[in-house]
Amino acid sequence: MKKRLFSLTIFILLIVGVFVFRSKTISSPVDSSHIDDSYIVSNEDKPNEREVEDEYIPEEEVVEDLLAGTSFVDDEGRVIVKNTDDILVLVNKNRNLPSDYVPEDLVVPNVRFPFEEFHEKKQMRREAAEALEELFSAAEEEGIYLFAISGYRSYARQKYLFDVRAERDGFEAANKLMAYPGQSEHQTGLAMDVSCQSLGFDLNENFGQTVEGLWLKENAHKFGFIIRYQKDKVDITGYSYEPWHIRYVGKDAAKEIYEKNITLEEYLGDETSIPVHN
Ligand SMILES: [Zn+2]
Repeated sequence: MKKRLFSLTIFILLIVGVFVFRSKTISSPVDSSHIDDSYIVSNEDKPNEREVEDEYIPEEEVVEDLLAGTSFVDDEGRVIVKNTDDILVLVNKNRNLPSDYVPEDLVVPNVRFPFEEFHEKKQMRREAAEALEELFSAAEEEGIYLFAISGYRSYARQKYLFDVRAERDGFEAANKLMAYPGQSEHQTGLAMDVSCQSLGFDLNENFGQTVEGLWLKENAHKFGFIIRYQKDKVDITGYSYEPWHIRYVGKDAAKEIYEKNITLEEYLGDETSIPVHN
């Protein structure tokens, strides 16, 4: 009898022990996932911290990582951008936006346009639109009257414009002068073409020499914008000089790009060469 009672006690103690142990290591599902996450993060962080402490990593190499994992190659061999909603998304003649990409936060900035009615091209992504408003009011305070001409452009509209041009001048000619659908920065909702009254709101190289164009060149970065296609960077951007085309990248990137006089490609460490058509 005593022996049975002893075994039973041991058995109960074992059961209780296992239960206590489990309840300590496994809490509620929400908590345990949190614990798992922080465990993974801290384990991932540690080797990196050591690397940073132990060895000198040149700035250029760190910058190259900015494009890591931001694209994939589709069945037709085209590079498709994955970080579509990233303020620093890189779209050019080598890197395509998905044909169905539409930014979810498009708004019409409260700035001067040379036309009244609504058009999709009045829009920009919210953050860029707010920055554009600040840029335009700062200009106005100095007596500079900028006009917004063309911002967001859907894939469908870019395709329509491209096809019209290709039909008229041939595919090659069209591809030289304008962006192929999916390769226009305007589809990101982060770009705006800017002009002024003295040019009749036209978009041409002369804008760079107007007081408005000169002001924009020296001040856009303070509001997070860059002149995206510089005169002496055609071999890197793949686009001819467009002093009217500004691209929102955020203040930090814009400041660095302006101060170093580099392109977005260089800032992000993109070393893919782009065929120059122009
Ligand atoms: Zn443009």
